[in-house]
Amino acid sequence: MSRQPMSDLFYLTRADVAQALSRIDPVAVAADVLRAHARGETVVPDEGYLGWTTADGHSARSLNMPGLVGGPEPVVGTKIINASLGNTARGIPRADGLTFLFDPETAHPYAMMDAALISATRTAAVSAVAVGLRTRPVSRLAFLGCGAQADAHLGLLLPRLEDLTELALYDQQPAAAAAFAEKHRAAAEAVGVRLTVTATAQEAVRGSDVVVPLTTVTEGYVRAEWLLPTATVVHVSLDDLLAEVVLGAAQVVVDDWQLVRTDPRRLLGRMYREGLLYGPDEPEPGRPAKRVDGTLGELLLKEAPLADRDGVTVVNPFGMSVQDVALAHRVFTAATELGIGSRLPR
Ligand code: NAD
Repeated sequence: MSRQPMSDLFYLTRADVAQALSRIDPVAVAADVLRAHARGETVVPDEGYLGWTTADGHSARSLNMPGLVGGPEPVVGTKIINASLGNTARGIPRADGLTFLFDPETAHPYAMMDAALISATRTAAVSAVAVGLRTRPVSRLAFLGCGAQADAHLGLLLPRLEDLTELALYDQQPAAAAAFAEKHRAAAEAVGVRLTVTATAQEAVRGSDVVVPLTTVTEGYVRAEWLLPTATVVHVSLDDLLAEVVLGAAQVVVDDWQLVRTDPRRLLGRMYREGLLYGPDEPEPGRPAKRVDGTLGELLLKEAPLADRDGVTVVNPFGMSVQDVALAHRVFTAATELGIGSRLPR
């Protein structure tokens, strides 16, 4: 699908994106992308990371994440997603950004849209795919961190977990957990799920079949002894687990090992550098180390379940640009059908 060079740029606001997303099954899109990735039909370069400290001393960062999903109609684009930890105190979202789509022939950008909702939705969708690969029922679920990602996760997980009776919520800002519970209580109770705000992370984790860390920590705190022996941790915020959980896990699954091991900041990348973790096709390091079992996409292609043996399963979804770009393309198509969005002259 080639467009006229220098045609207008299509722009979608957050409200436009939300309207378009309501016509899409993001979990199906995420699963398709994971399968395409496992078949080698995607290009996912390392993310560009720019970090700085703001004038008031907070950590800020800009991530640039390009990606291509191949096939007869390739989808190409990039997500730029920025965040400052000072935003929470300002009462504004921590993260904000734009997702761009590029014409596969001319490489010219043709669409630009609010990135935050797409990013949150695709992240929650990958978590939903991971949880859907569990064979054991999920009656208790825990969210550590009750911000934007928790909102997106609740929206996609609640309708998919038939056996769920309790969602345990912990946030280091008690007001955030209370506000989250207040906002979602009626919808949760309507499907028979009790929302429980806990005073500690440990209380939320203990007894939960699935634990989803959605915080902004940079140092681990979740201990192995807190987890049920059959628990699945979907380690979305990437730094909540202590290394002991990964080392003792029965199964470690990622979305993309290259992204995980290249990153020097988050837990699994650090463990790789320390020789504590190695990839599925890599030689064992010269010291006792944990092997990463594979990717979510490989499990989907093999139609294999997650956690078919006893022990904790760690799913570490680094977050792939191709998920954003593929979902953004579906949003663009839906928005075009709905006749929403604006055209910006070039
Ligand atoms: P947010 O700022 O909206 O919410 C984070 C919440 O976590 C806040 O309510 C904060 O009070 C709470 N929190 C911080 N430290 C905590 C701690 N130690 N214990 C409990 N709660 C704590 O952020 P968000 O947009 O929801 O993003 C959450 C995390 O998800 C971020 O780390 C982000 O980088 C990550 N993320 C991962 C992916 C991925 O694909 N892996 C994608 C997007 C975002």
